[in-house]
Amino acid sequence: MARLAQTAGLTDIQREILSTVRDFVDKEILPVATELEHRDEYPQQIVDGLKELGLFGLMIPEEYGGLGESLLTYALCVEEIARGWMSVSGIVNTHFIVAYMLKQHGTQEQKDHFLPRMAAGDIRGAFSMSEPALGSDVSAITSKAVKDGDEYVLTGQKMWLTNGGTSSLVAVLVRSDEGHPEGTAPHKSMTTFLVEKEPGFGEVRPGLTIPGKIDKMGYKGVDTTELIMDGLRIPADRVLGGETGRGFYQMMDGVEVGRVNVAARGCGVAQRAFELGVSYAQQRHTFGKPIAQHQAIQFKLAEMATKVEAAHAMMVNAARKKDSGERNDLEAGMAKYLASEYCKEVVEDAFRIHGGYGFSKEYEIERLYREAPMLLIGEGTAEIQKMIIGRRLLEEYRFQG
Ligand SMILES: Cc1cc2nc3c(=O)[nH]c(=O)nc-3n(C[C@H](O)[C@H](O)[C@H](O)COP(=O)(O)OP(=O)(O)OC[C@H]3O[C@@H](n4cnc5c(N)ncnc54)[C@H](O)[C@@H]3O)c2cc1C
Repeated sequence: MARLAQTAGLTDIQREILSTVRDFVDKEILPVATELEHRDEYPQQIVDGLKELGLFGLMIPEEYGGLGESLLTYALCVEEIARGWMSVSGIVNTHFIVAYMLKQHGTQEQKDHFLPRMAAGDIRGAFSMSEPALGSDVSAITSKAVKDGDEYVLTGQKMWLTNGGTSSLVAVLVRSDEGHPEGTAPHKSMTTFLVEKEPGFGEVRPGLTIPGKIDKMGYKGVDTTELIMDGLRIPADRVLGGETGRGFYQMMDGVEVGRVNVAARGCGVAQRAFELGVSYAQQRHTFGKPIAQHQAIQFKLAEMATKVEAAHAMMVNAARKKDSGERNDLEAGMAKYLASEYCKEVVEDAFRIHGGYGFSKEYEIERLYREAPMLLIGEGTAEIQKMIIGRRLLEEYRFQG
């Protein structure tokens, strides 16, 4: 499927990286993805391969041992990986958000301590904002940190940590009242803590428990967990950036690039669904001809391909905007919203093209059908994207009368 989702203006290095990743996806991910997904098995061999390719350090600056690549390169790699198996892109994504937050907001000591080992993939990151009672409304966080000498004591329950079990560094957002008087706006009394822990489940550090994997309808293989803090002691030098009260802003910055990433995943999954649909439509015959020769099916294919193209163009635009140093919340919100909605629609059409066989676990489209909905939720639901887009539009088009 060379024709769709082309990106103009890439450098030779970007093209080389992408062709290496695509080759890896075709040879190492696609042949095993569905089987591993059905067993809900962590793709250790694939992760080891990505480590060898240097993918965990793709955007980490060269001075810390990474490849120092742009958000665009990263997003295009994610698109390729998600075309193979969305769960693998999930393993990379939270790691990338934490590395980005460290690069942008960490103290020099924190960067020196974490980034080289993150670039090598030896430390892998997860990030945690959501709680059992909130996801969209981050300002309502109740987990908290209380200062005790040179340490903070953290208590509270967190929810939905992608890579909660397999990571060894979690960026956790909590409320920290220290230094912030009563009446401070909710988003100004939040702090991100860099919490190191052993990978695995159970009590992974005194005061910190990862209970086990949440059983999900799709997005399997990658672990999603709760996190319980009960008197978890964290040294003051593990406050991201060294200053309390900046956590909300830091997390939102991370999530903004995460949104480009989720858009890229939507593009990758939609591309794969198109490939499966267009291939099946030429093999299955009804009423004496391949179903691809029925105009109703051709129209479906035309709509699917158009959506793949549109989503890819918006995702690339949002990544390039961020790479140019400009604010990209509008573009990232639009790309995330459109790519995840289109992804769901393209997958649904590919499913319909498969007729009854789409319902069988023997066909790859069955897996995609269970995976696509996650993109409608992660990194902010469609409603939240529309709120962001709407607010920005009213800023840009302020009534002057
Ligand atoms: C598989 C998976 C992995 C995840 N990984 C992570 C992770 O790694 N780290 C992390 O911190 N979180 C993670 N999340 C959590 C995710 O970010 C939240 O689920 C998401 O933000 C939605 O929050 P919620 O589930 O609490 O829904 P709610 O916020 O309760 O929303 C419920 C519904 O109400 C709508 N809604 C809410 N507010 C408004 C409003 N003002 N106007 C209109 N509609 C509104 C929402 O759009 C949604 O349709 C993950 C979730 C899943 C499913």
